Amino acid sequence: MTEEEKKSDSGTDGTKTENETSEAVDSQIEEKEPVRQIPVHKLDMKRLIELDACTRCGECLTWCPVHDQDARESLIPRRKIMDFLRIARSQNGFLAGIMKSEKIGESLKTVIKKICGYQEITREQMDDFVTNLYECSTCGQCEVVCPAHIDTVNLWEELRRLIVRADYGPLEPQKALRKSIKTFDNPWQQPRAGRTKWSRRAKKDGLIIQEPRQIKKTNGKVLLFFGCTASYDANVKQVAINTINILETLNIDYGVLGKDEKCCGSVLLRMGDPEYKRLFSENIDQFNSLGIDTLISSCSGCFKTIMQDYPKIKPLNFEVLHTVEYLARLLKTGELTFPYPVRQTVTYHDPCHLGRATGGFDAPRMIMEAIPELTLVEMPRNREYSRCCGAGGGLKAGFPDIQGRMSQERIKEAEKTGAQALVSCCPFCYQGLQLGIAGLGSDIVMKDLSAYVAQALLGYDVIEKAAKEAEEKKREKEKANALKKQEKETEKEKEHPPASKEPATKG
Ligand code: SF4
Ligand code: SF4
Repeated sequence: MTEEEKKSDSGTDGTKTENETSEAVDSQIEEKEPVRQIPVHKLDMKRLIELDACTRCGECLTWCPVHDQDARESLIPRRKIMDFLRIARSQNGFLAGIMKSEKIGESLKTVIKKICGYQEITREQMDDFVTNLYECSTCGQCEVVCPAHIDTVNLWEELRRLIVRADYGPLEPQKALRKSIKTFDNPWQQPRAGRTKWSRRAKKDGLIIQEPRQIKKTNGKVLLFFGCTASYDANVKQVAINTINILETLNIDYGVLGKDEKCCGSVLLRMGDPEYKRLFSENIDQFNSLGIDTLISSCSGCFKTIMQDYPKIKPLNFEVLHTVEYLARLLKTGELTFPYPVRQTVTYHDPCHLGRATGGFDAPRMIMEAIPELTLVEMPRNREYSRCCGAGGGLKAGFPDIQGRMSQERIKEAEKTGAQALVSCCPFCYQGLQLGIAGLGSDIVMKDLSAYVAQALLGYDVIEKAAKEAEEKKREKEKANALKKQEKETEKEKEHPPASKEPATKG
C-alpha cells in the first residue's frame, strides 16, 4: 500500500476510520480474551473414533441440502470434522501441552512453533467453526450416504454441547428459543396457560368433536403428546384438530396433559444446550407416573426425541409411537377402516425425524395406500434420501434465509410431480414447507396426513366444512341485516311520507 493509499484509508486528517477503530477494538478484545478451551475430554470414545474415521471422500458434499444453498466448502461434514480436529489438537495435543507450560521459555516456544509447525487457533477460526457447526439442520442425510458410517447427527449434537460449554454457542438468534423454553416451557414465547387455548377455540368453532380429555382424570392408556408447534401455531392447528377427531371417532382410550404439557426439549438438545436434561427428566417422571401403555405424538421431532433420546437419560415404562405408526397398527388389525374416498393426487415429504432418524417410512405410505381414491406420486428424493425442508436443528432460527431456500427447493420438487397437495407428518415440516410455498407463490396445498385420515373417516374435511359454514352464516347474517334495513326504511317512509311537490301557481 502506498503512503497515499494508507492516508486515504485512514482518513485524510490522519484520524482513524470507523473500520480501523473497530478493528483495533476487536484486536484488543482478542488480546484480552484468549480462545477458550473446548472441553474435548468430554467427548466419548465413539465420537473420537468417528472423528478419525472420516476418509475425506466428499460424498457428504454431494448430498448436504444446506451446502446446496450455501456452497461454502467449510460447512460440509468433511471440513467440519477436519476443523474440529485442528482445534482439538491445537488446544489438547502434545504440543499444546508444551506451549501452555509455564516452565518453558518463550524463545523455546517460538522454536518449537517453527520446527513442529504448531499453530494456535485464532478467534476468527473458532467463530467460523461455530457458525458452520450451527449452519446444519441435523437432517442426517450425510449419515445415510457416509461410506464410513459416521453417526454424524449425534456427532454434531455432541460437538455443539462442547461449544455451548465453552460459551461459544448457540448463535445469537437461537438464544431466544433457549430463553423462551426456560421461561415458558415452549419455544414460541407464549404463556403456559395458552397451550390449551386452541382446543377451547376449536370446540367453539365446531372443529373438534369434543375437547381432548385430560389423562389425569380419565386414566387413559394412550397419552397424546401434542408438542409446542401444534399447540401454539394457529397456522398448523389442523394437526391437533384432526388428531383429536381421529382418536374420538375410533373411540381410543386416550388422554392429554393439557396445561401440564411442556416442550419435549428437542430444540435444546439439537442446539447443544445442557438444559435439555432437566426438561427430559421432568417429562419422563411425569409420563412414567401416568400408568400409560403408549405415548403417541403427531410431531416427528417430539416423537424422535422422546423415543430415541429420552431413554438415554432415564428408562421409560411405556412404548413411544408416532401417531401414523399407531394408526398403521390399527389398520393392520382392522380397527381402522376408511369408509370415504379422498379424491386427491398427493406427494409425500418424509420428515427427517420420522424417516431417516427412526426408519418410519412405511407407516405413512401404508395409510395413504389404504385411503380410497388417494393417489400417491413419489418425488425422486424420497425415504432416506428425502430432501430436508430446513426447519429443524435450530437452522430456521439461526439461518432463516437458508431455510427459506431449502424449503423452496423441496416445493419445486413436489410441484414437478403434478400433485395437488404436499403431505407430511410433522407440524414443524408443515410450518417450514409452508414458508417455501409462500416464497414461491406455489399453488400446491400443504397438508398433514392426519387431515386425510380424518377426511376418510368422517367423509369431509372438518376445517374446510367449518370454514364454508362460517362463510354461509356470514352471508345469511349480511342478507338478514340488509333485509331489516330495507324494512325499517319502508316503515319510516310510511310514517313520514315525503312531501309531494305542489305544482307552481301563478300569483
Ligand atoms: S446433517 Fe444434513 S444439513 Fe447437517 S451436514 Fe449433514 S447433510 Fe448437511
Ligand atoms: S461422507 Fe463420511 S467419510 Fe466421506 S467425507 Fe463425508 S463424513 Fe467423511
